[in-house]
Amino acid sequence: MTTITVAKGDGIGPEIMDATLKIILAAGADIAIEEIEVGEKVYLAGNTAGIAKESWEVIRRNKIFLKAPITTPQGGGYKSLNVTTRKFLGLYSNVRPCTSFHPFVKTKHPVMDVVIVRENEEDLYAGIEHQQTDEVVQCLKLISRPGCEKIVRYAFEYAKQYGRKKVTCFTKDNIMKQTDGLFHAVFDEIAAQYPDIENEHWIIDIGAAKMADTPEIFDVIVMPNLYGDVLSDVAAQIAGSVGLAGSANIGEECAMFEAIHGSAPRRAGQNLANPSGLLQGAVMMLNHIGQTEVAEKIQNAWLKTIEDGVHTYDIFKDGVSKQKVGTKEFADAVIANLGHKPATFKPVSYAKGAALNLPKYQKKPAAQKQLVGVDVFVHWTGTNPDELAEQIKLLDMPEAALTMITNRGIKVWPEGFSETFCTDHWRCRFKPTEGHTIQKQHIVQLLMEAMDNNIDTIKTENLYTFDGKAGFSLGQGQ
Ligand code: NAD
Repeated sequence: MTTITVAKGDGIGPEIMDATLKIILAAGADIAIEEIEVGEKVYLAGNTAGIAKESWEVIRRNKIFLKAPITTPQGGGYKSLNVTTRKFLGLYSNVRPCTSFHPFVKTKHPVMDVVIVRENEEDLYAGIEHQQTDEVVQCLKLISRPGCEKIVRYAFEYAKQYGRKKVTCFTKDNIMKQTDGLFHAVFDEIAAQYPDIENEHWIIDIGAAKMADTPEIFDVIVMPNLYGDVLSDVAAQIAGSVGLAGSANIGEECAMFEAIHGSAPRRAGQNLANPSGLLQGAVMMLNHIGQTEVAEKIQNAWLKTIEDGVHTYDIFKDGVSKQKVGTKEFADAVIANLGHKPATFKPVSYAKGAALNLPKYQKKPAAQKQLVGVDVFVHWTGTNPDELAEQIKLLDMPEAALTMITNRGIKVWPEGFSETFCTDHWRCRFKPTEGHTIQKQHIVQLLMEAMDNNIDTIKTENLYTFDGKAGFSLGQGQ
């Protein structure tokens, strides 16, 4: 018996949760339910996180959380409960199967069956942003080796568990050689440990275009957070089944399962909503906790109900659908089909009784790290990089000297192009001079000199090598 935390949420949430629980209990799910309140009422009671402290305790104790959609009240100051939950609980993996149900649900892609595995905690979503000059703001893109290893391993273990044939990685490492480069490198390392699963890497732009055009060539696709955020919505939309898709947020300790849609407030309380998205989330949950036979029974009954043409209003189509039903009647139809298999769709068959069990991340030994330079960023309102170089060269010292200036990444000194548009945000790269090494005190000295020369430094980035390998990119055009 597994105790799960349940939140019925807002809008259509309570109706679709009741339907989902009724189905999974009828199928024999061995669960106990502990209910908590999250969402609109909690927000409006003055709790900006939408969840009470005691509810966190319940979620952390039970570790498995089935959540209906919630309504985030209009107006500022309310924090997204989903984002907070993912981050607090370390739910690093967002898994979203995007399947079309042709010919019973309208779709542009009759044979689409793609699972998007999105990294869920890092990348540009750390939310570390700064305005540094009048003209320039920045957002820090943080990619970690543990983050990459955990998500890529998850994707391969998922593929293994569900008999998937191929894992594809999407990155933009031709541009972001350090961050996306790390993701891609880790993908290659881990892929080599799964010789039975095909692997490939696509640059995200053409990969995304292919996915939208010919999704049938993909199976599992793993990617960093931002790309995954965008493409998991694209994939769900083109499958034609936004209302039918569930998603899982998986961490080392806890996991949260939900529908991908929102609380559809206009449909609330009318027994209209389709409970399928949340039910798909619940099927993923049952698989996750090792109740795979129950999950399989529900999934096959659900597929049969869809192909029987028993449809809620959102997917009902004259000529294809047979019977328009409400939330409750749909649930009853699925329950009546428990123990039956679909005839047109391929019945699902999950590996029996095995929860996906991933090893905890083990920290790696530290590399030999050496300081080999520094990028000093300055706010300067001039336009001619040669003039800036003259000023910055005043900071040169016996141990380190200016070697390059870039503006928004492109080299503008030495030998820049007059056509290059420059903002007021400049990066000045100092490297050790011949026969010298650079130390931290040289950086401090540089900054003191800059202050004395009225140069407005806004930040520094140290340049390191790790076991001799450069941990920084060249300037564009360098
Ligand atoms: P929505 O997903 O609630 O609704 C979009 C459209 O799809 C509507 O026409 C709705 O009627 C329909 N729809 C959605 N789910 C359906 C279902 N199960 N059955 C039948 N029709 C369904 O998106 P929205 O209108 O942009 O957002 C409404 C609220 O939901 C907002 O407060 C938003 O913040 C919240 N939201 C919550 C979550 C979540 O809790 N995970 C996710 C997205 C949006």
